[in-house]
Amino acid sequence: MSILNRSLYISCINSYIDPLKPVDKAIITHAHADHARAGHKNILATQDTINIMKIRYGEKCATNFQALAYGTPIFINNIKITLYPAGHILGSAQILLEDKKERVLVTGDYKTVEDDTVQNFQLVETDTLITEATFGLPIFKHPNPNDEIKKLIKSVKYNNSICHLVGVYALGKAQRVINLLRKNNYDEVIYIHGALEKISKYYSSRNINLGRLVKINMKNINDTKGKIVLAPPSALKDKWARKLAPAKMCMASGWMTVKQRAKQRLIELPLVISDHADWFELTSTISNSNASKVWITHGREDALKYWCLKNNIQAEALSLYGRDEED
Ligand SMILES: [Zn+2]
Repeated sequence: MSILNRSLYISCINSYIDPLKPVDKAIITHAHADHARAGHKNILATQDTINIMKIRYGEKCATNFQALAYGTPIFINNIKITLYPAGHILGSAQILLEDKKERVLVTGDYKTVEDDTVQNFQLVETDTLITEATFGLPIFKHPNPNDEIKKLIKSVKYNNSICHLVGVYALGKAQRVINLLRKNNYDEVIYIHGALEKISKYYSSRNINLGRLVKINMKNINDTKGKIVLAPPSALKDKWARKLAPAKMCMASGWMTVKQRAKQRLIELPLVISDHADWFELTSTISNSNASKVWITHGREDALKYWCLKNNIQAEALSLYGRDEED
């Protein structure tokens, strides 16, 4: 392939996509830490990705930032670069690279199901598709997120002497769970761990409905009885969590499909809510993109590769290291 190599490096413009080490020029798909790092000289990304990176890593986390709007191409040397919504988190983008000979699309992390907290996924036709495969096994068919959130609302209704402590990633999943609760008519105050505060404020400033959020502190920590408390998964077993009202442990994650994972983490109410494409979204996106060649960046690569080959699509697993098992 001429435009991009297997390390997602575009040699003719000396730029990397989602590099883990500091580089001169980086194009960033989205602001999760396994894709967006501090310390690059020049960053090209959507305005939301740049804003979220600055919130997480500081205003000076890169020397120069260039924001690119979705669907507005720029030309660097002879490469045309266009960003399209990836539907994963706020600001997440697929990157389409084109020269005279070929089109290459890097999906980054993505999902195709509707989500009011993101710019929804847009299907893009391409010659080569470079896709993730976090949930690249046929056992992964994510249920309707509204049905999952209703389980939480119902459990809160019938167990109002305890609090429901929900493990969520701070960027993206937390705001999606809150928005789903609001969409399903849950109007109570929602308590949040301090780690969720800044990003949630940013989502609210972008007109995403999160309703009334209250940060947990030492004064209100006992007011959580009958309420929903959101915290990063790592905080679920903290001293912090033991100070809350007695809690039912919940987790919102695509991995909750795997009962063993829920059990290991002592999760009593697993909610299968994922910000990644499931097997059916992965395979239908590959089909609908009309790609003749697929590179799989990370995740469950083997099954997806086999599926491609069976469907007469060239496929290769890149096994990029350093990508998380985020959900
Ligand atoms: Zn991600």
